Amino acid sequence: RVTIKAVRSAFVDRLEREYFDLVIIGGGITGAAVARDAAFRGLKTVILEKDDFASGTSGKSSRMIHGGLRYLEQLRFALVRESLRERAILLRIAPHMVQTRAFLLPFIKGLSQSPAKLCLGLFLYDLLSSPWGLDHFTWLSRNTLARCAPSLRREGAYGAAVYRDCTVDDARLTLSTVLSGVQRGLLAMNHAPVMDFIKERGQAVGVVVRDDVTGRSFSLRGRALLAAAGPWTNEVTQMEGTIKDPLVRVSKGVHLLVPLDCLNAGYVPVLNSPEDRRHIYIIPWQNYALLGTTDTYFDGDPDALRVTRAEVDYLLGTVNRYFPKLRLRAESVRGATAGLRPLVHQAGSRETLSSREHRLIQTGSGVFFLYGGKLTSHRLMAREAVDRICAFLVSGGTLCFTPWKRLDNVPGLDVDEFLEKLGKVRSGTGSPDRRSLLHLVRTYGGRACEVLNMANQECEKIHPDFNVLWAEIEYAATREMACSLTDFMVRRSHLGYLMDTPDERMVEQIADRMSTLLGWTPRDKDRELDRYWSWDRNMRTFSG
Ligand code: FAD
Repeated sequence: RVTIKAVRSAFVDRLEREYFDLVIIGGGITGAAVARDAAFRGLKTVILEKDDFASGTSGKSSRMIHGGLRYLEQLRFALVRESLRERAILLRIAPHMVQTRAFLLPFIKGLSQSPAKLCLGLFLYDLLSSPWGLDHFTWLSRNTLARCAPSLRREGAYGAAVYRDCTVDDARLTLSTVLSGVQRGLLAMNHAPVMDFIKERGQAVGVVVRDDVTGRSFSLRGRALLAAAGPWTNEVTQMEGTIKDPLVRVSKGVHLLVPLDCLNAGYVPVLNSPEDRRHIYIIPWQNYALLGTTDTYFDGDPDALRVTRAEVDYLLGTVNRYFPKLRLRAESVRGATAGLRPLVHQAGSRETLSSREHRLIQTGSGVFFLYGGKLTSHRLMAREAVDRICAFLVSGGTLCFTPWKRLDNVPGLDVDEFLEKLGKVRSGTGSPDRRSLLHLVRTYGGRACEVLNMANQECEKIHPDFNVLWAEIEYAATREMACSLTDFMVRRSHLGYLMDTPDERMVEQIADRMSTLLGWTPRDKDRELDRYWSWDRNMRTFSG
């Protein structure tokens, strides 16, 4: 019987034999985008991720693909314009995943910013996005606002502005970006931390890697090395050894998951925190609303990040000021995530004002570091990095294909048309219901057909409350590099977040299915369960 350990061992043998054009450290959105672009340009590339793809910041963002209204306040017009252009490109290459939403800015006396200022901002936002714009912003009267957001505070409310922006599943976007590169010959490995650089005459020529699935250490060599380690960038520079000053300054951002019941899922309310004037978004996601985010300086260990009670109180306090009828309390929170923004280090800056711009540098030993930026701008950052690497290597194509090549082989249809076609092909006994089909299309794009083929006639849901099918476990384990129970529960299916209360029986059954697929021993399975429940506890409890 084939086991994951045997498959990984054979993969490591292959990596050791190869000589790469480009070795990438870090499988967040930045590393994934560089890997995809490089693979499209014909560079022989490998990407190494210490945990799972998108297990860092790229799986804990606010999930917005946006220009960033608040950057207008900081007069960063070029950054906003660039992001709005990227938003248009992502809508084209990932139409199944990137969703346009109506964002609602209520004006409430004493709570929100002045309407004149915000309308000026929205006017500029429309102007900057005009070549690739969505609908222009509109104004809602007090009465319409009361209908659209019935639980919103009435006193002092005198209307709202509605503008369009986009959201995305950040973890799935990262994975799809990696898989798109894999289709073009990229080699990708998760659970493979880079432990050291190999140097010859002061130049980095390779890396030492540990395969956490087999426990085997190995080395691999490349002509160019690039670190896209997000909040871990300063750690990697220490390993590299030629840079003294930190490259990134890290800021912590927390999101809370609360049940959606009382909110109107048609809108994304944007609230102004009375405490520090930050924008707090309430983003509908599956059965929940995602409330966030905070922005505080963090200098602890990125691997030991916890949500604190003060952060929960801050977010709930803001939401309760605008939506007093909801009476949200810490007990209403089903779970929380904390992510770290890898901001370009600027001595003496306040976190919220820190640049969302990115940097690409090459160190004395020849290693490239790419850091900063946003989820929205990942493709552009990658393009700049790969242009520079191709020039350095004097090889690889100069033409960048990523603005046109769709992710997940999604056909050039809109989601409804695709759904209709898929529904016709799969009508009959054993076919999934429309909600499951929509879930498959939004999650896998054109690859939904592969999941359905794998499901054959067994399109049974894992749990009646969720749209995830049993076949998705096999698909994740065999086609999407899910090596651990947590990879599947958290980043492939999101079931870990979707369960209102932990369902031990369901998790046990999923672990059993993964044991069969990956050849886990009973001890492996117990360890996986322990790790998963430890993630679950961290997600549902707060420190301090
Ligand atoms: P990461 O995603 O952290 O990836 C770095 C990876 O490197 C990690 O997976 C890590 O495990 C790996 N790694 C580290 N060291 C090693 C090693 N030695 N060997 C191998 N692998 C290693 N941007 C937007 O555009 N829209 C938003 O709505 C938005 N919201 C945000 C909300 C929050 C709370 C935060 C924190 C950020 C948000 N951002 C948003 C910013 C965006 O999420 C980040 O800019 C982006 O995800 C950073 O990606 P990255 O790949 O650089 O870092």
